[in-house]
Amino acid sequence: AEAELIRVQRFESLAMLAGGLSHDLRNLLQPLLLAGDSLLDYQDDPRLARLGALVRDCGRRGLEMVQSMLSFARGARRAEQVRAQALVDALSLLLQGSVPRAIRLDIEVDDGELSFEGNHTELQQCLLNLCLNAIQAMPSGGVLRVVASKARLEQSFFLEQEEAQPGDYARLTVSDTGHGMPEEVRKRLFEPFFTTKEGGTGLGLLSCRRIVYSHSGVMRLDSIPGEGSCFDLYIPVVRPVAETPDMVEGDTTLHGN
Ligand code: ADP
Repeated sequence: AEAELIRVQRFESLAMLAGGLSHDLRNLLQPLLLAGDSLLDYQDDPRLARLGALVRDCGRRGLEMVQSMLSFARGARRAEQVRAQALVDALSLLLQGSVPRAIRLDIEVDDGELSFEGNHTELQQCLLNLCLNAIQAMPSGGVLRVVASKARLEQSFFLEQEEAQPGDYARLTVSDTGHGMPEEVRKRLFEPFFTTKEGGTGLGLLSCRRIVYSHSGVMRLDSIPGEGSCFDLYIPVVRPVAETPDMVEGDTTLHGN
């Protein structure tokens, strides 16, 4: 399981890099293609027409490369039926040995039968990131709580600027009684490389958010300085039909960018 997590972590970094790069590259290449097309209009000047063809062909090849970069990243993802109980069991196994004595680990599954569409390993990685952050936020001990429960949204619901459609969700909650986050930290939480830790990567939460969004889910955060933080992940039990291909192919775009 550990090797698999490392693989996912590597993949996550690559996917984020590919997502970010292809976004920027696309923005550069599209005007280039347009410029090539306009040059092609000058058919009576063979030099300009040749330049136009060159610019257009290079632009097209560039876009194809961007596309294959995305397909590469998407290739490694799978959709499956994720069981909340299995997810939480695997998590507590992974956490064994990483939880200091002064921290009480409290794990709860509301409904042992709760399951939903998604990718087990990605979500495991996501929960692990959140738990490790929580542990680091409690240097002098406290309570780390992980809860999996059913949640029904009766009407569309806005969480952290993301809209969740009404329906049945699996809610995965990770909360701690640590130092919490001041507003300056909360605002920058999902910025790549933003960290307040010595030796931190600043990629953990960005990766979590990407995983949640690629499940058509939303993430909510409550944090009170001096009291603790609580992350709620809402993952739809059945993925919205329009977005199903994303799950199969993956979504490597950097959200909020
Ligand atoms: P890293 O853990 O490498 O710093 P993350 O993206 O996971 O990167 O987290 C970014 C920052 O968010 C952390 O440096 C920390 O300041 C803050 N943070 C994340 N989780 C918590 C938490 N549970 N309690 C307090 N602060 C947190």
